[in-house]
Amino acid sequence: MNNKEVEDCIIVGGGIAGLQAAIQLGRYSAHRVLVIDRGYGRSTICKSYRNILGWPDGVSGDELRARGRKQAESVGVKFVKDDIASATQTEARGFRLTNKNGTQYEGRTLLLATGLMDRYPDIAGLSSLLGTSVFVCPDCDGYEIQDRRTVVIGSGDPGASMAILLSERTKDITYINHEGHAVSEEHRRQLEAKGIPYIEEEVAEIKGEAGTISSVIFKDGTTLQTERGFISFGGNAIYSELAQQLGAELEHNKHVKSDPRSKMTCVENLWVAGDVGVHSELTTVAMGEGATAAIWINKALKKMNAGG
Ligand SMILES: Cc1cc2nc3c(=O)[nH]c(=O)nc-3n(C[C@H](O)[C@H](O)[C@H](O)COP(=O)(O)OP(=O)(O)OC[C@H]3O[C@@H](n4cnc5c(N)ncnc54)[C@H](O)[C@@H]3O)c2cc1C
Repeated sequence: MNNKEVEDCIIVGGGIAGLQAAIQLGRYSAHRVLVIDRGYGRSTICKSYRNILGWPDGVSGDELRARGRKQAESVGVKFVKDDIASATQTEARGFRLTNKNGTQYEGRTLLLATGLMDRYPDIAGLSSLLGTSVFVCPDCDGYEIQDRRTVVIGSGDPGASMAILLSERTKDITYINHEGHAVSEEHRRQLEAKGIPYIEEEVAEIKGEAGTISSVIFKDGTTLQTERGFISFGGNAIYSELAQQLGAELEHNKHVKSDPRSKMTCVENLWVAGDVGVHSELTTVAMGEGATAAIWINKALKKMNAGG
């Protein structure tokens, strides 16, 4: 079954960047806007954002998304739950998106706000603490571990460099190399110089209550008490496949390049916003990029409507 209508703009990704773009575009009251989202992203796993203007006590990703969707719907934006598997350009220089069952959507312009996903193993107890007392982003949540007993659970060098970076926040920090991947000589030297204990042992479970981590239980049965945690495993999945299929330029790390002013990629009428773009892995940056892209999508649509 195909969606016969051609949308003025399709936004793939109804997370933070996509929702902010949808609200901005909807408020022009001039365009048919469709958001397609598969329902699972970084903003659905983060239980609390605390660095956002107006939310000093934090707000969960789920709550922000629910509010954002309601706000976008109130200005006429449509939503569909679907997982887009491929993208091509149409003869009319628009975009055709297809899910894995063959359902298609067509848009005159396209915004990819597909984000990325952190790689982390399925450790019992971990997911319920993400964003409240176990964190991923030092710029977002370095503040939350100030002078607190902290563990970094990770893998090889990415975990080691996270522990080294965070040691400027707390003297009581331990690096647990859960996967036992190699740590370079240079990182070992720095861990030692900063007095960061190094444990190479698999974590069996993370204990916590009401969102606060309390201890780490290792496979060998030993326990380490803690107040805060960070994870850093490296190898995050960047959801840039659709952009790549359409010919957008990618960085070596698979993030999509775009014009810094408009967020349009090197492919005409194809935009990116949020974590799928280059170095922007913060909620507030994702919002800013979503709004910026929407402003330029509106300009492009107006030009098209005027026959330009
Ligand atoms: C544990 C954790 C804690 C964090 N804490 C903070 C914090 O305190 N402060 C802060 O500023 N930031 C924080 N972040 C980062 C923040 O969540 C991201 O920067 C933000 O979610 C980026 O928004 P986005 O719209 O780019 O991506 P997302 O919010 O991940 O949304 C992308 C959406 O695209 C959809 N999607 C992807 N591919 C497809 C497809 N092919 N078809 C259909 N839909 C698709 C996904 O379902 C998803 O809903 C945290 C992240 C994590 C994981």
